[in-house]
Amino acid sequence: MNGVQRRFTVVAAVAAAALIWTVSVALPSDSEVVAEPLVVSSPYRYQRDQLIRNQTLSHLFARHNVIGQELLQLLGQADGLEPRRVRPGMVFEFRYLTGDSIPNSVTYRVDQDRFVKLDRDGLGVWIGSSIEVDWSFSTVRVVGEINSSLWVAMDRAVGDSLLPRRERDKLIHALTDDIYGWVIDFYRDIWEGDEFRIVFERLESSEGDIRFGRVLAAEVETRGNKKSAFVITDQRGRNAYYDSDGLSLRRTFLINPVPFSGRISSNFSRSRFHPILRVRRPHLGMDIAARTNAEIRATADGVVESAGRDGGYGRAVVIQHAAGVETRYAHMSRIERGIGPGTRVVQGQRIGFVGMSGLATAPHLHYEFIKNGRHLDPRRLNVGDGTPVPESMLGEFERVSSEFRALLEGRNVVLRPPL
Ligand SMILES: [Zn+2]
Repeated sequence: MNGVQRRFTVVAAVAAAALIWTVSVALPSDSEVVAEPLVVSSPYRYQRDQLIRNQTLSHLFARHNVIGQELLQLLGQADGLEPRRVRPGMVFEFRYLTGDSIPNSVTYRVDQDRFVKLDRDGLGVWIGSSIEVDWSFSTVRVVGEINSSLWVAMDRAVGDSLLPRRERDKLIHALTDDIYGWVIDFYRDIWEGDEFRIVFERLESSEGDIRFGRVLAAEVETRGNKKSAFVITDQRGRNAYYDSDGLSLRRTFLINPVPFSGRISSNFSRSRFHPILRVRRPHLGMDIAARTNAEIRATADGVVESAGRDGGYGRAVVIQHAAGVETRYAHMSRIERGIGPGTRVVQGQRIGFVGMSGLATAPHLHYEFIKNGRHLDPRRLNVGDGTPVPESMLGEFERVSSEFRALLEGRNVVLRPPL
């Protein structure tokens, strides 16, 4: 029992004794009320406070009369309060014994999985302890039909009570970029009436937070073509997705350099009317309209050939890949720091941000795919087959894929413990 608990027990015992005493003197011989009703109140007062922009932890704790040596001693126990982890808006809960001007306990959330509680003992010494947040898993299946956009369909299929908006957006990105980013173009391949089914992990904490975990299985039907995805998680915790034939959904090139969000404004064409130059000329790339400063990713591993201002392309990056392929990313607002001629990049690495430098009328990415000097439509590449499930994982894959298949096809929303 620590000092705080002991103190609480004493307070509670005194209150209980007072109650018994009051009751015994309040009920003498007759029924007349001779004592005021006893009000037993909480021995504690709680106060929430937060770190204000441009203020330090000393400002915050000074508001609660923890200063000087005592503050230093407290901070020595305060796991997770390193300067790089504290952010304006971080919330602290101070607990005071009624009547005291110094709190006897402070609690704050370090990350999704942990709280830290600091308790002050009777001698004014602070002791920190860590409290794990308890997350419970459930497996959820949703089914949706796309009528206007994937966003609307997902909002309808996955309500706020299932996943709050921010977590729902993560689910969408998992689907469009992390799972199908190599094989389905969610800008162009999705048509009205297309369907999706997703089985995912939903986590709910003892604090009531809701989080999206992993997609376990998915099936997206685009114009009659069904593409399944089943997860295998390796020993290092990395998720890889395979189709029903056990072939990886990854390919050498990602389809979209900008994570799914906007819409295609102009497709590849050998002849189109240029909005600024007002002449008909080929458009040898694809334009992706996106918000300014949306991130741009390298679509495949390679080496940067050039990075900087390039006439009508504005700020642009050109990357050289294997097999005589080059990709160009133009009209950037800025190029990622450290990206320059000779830099090695890996698939999915951020190389810059969407803008409208050069000849552009609105923020968008102009993306070109050039093979052996010839421009190709990046959306019409023959992507080939993915690599098969590694031999060592085949047994595991067969087991989980049949389980996932059953979950995908089940008639009702499934809520149950994790697999
Ligand atoms: Zn363009």
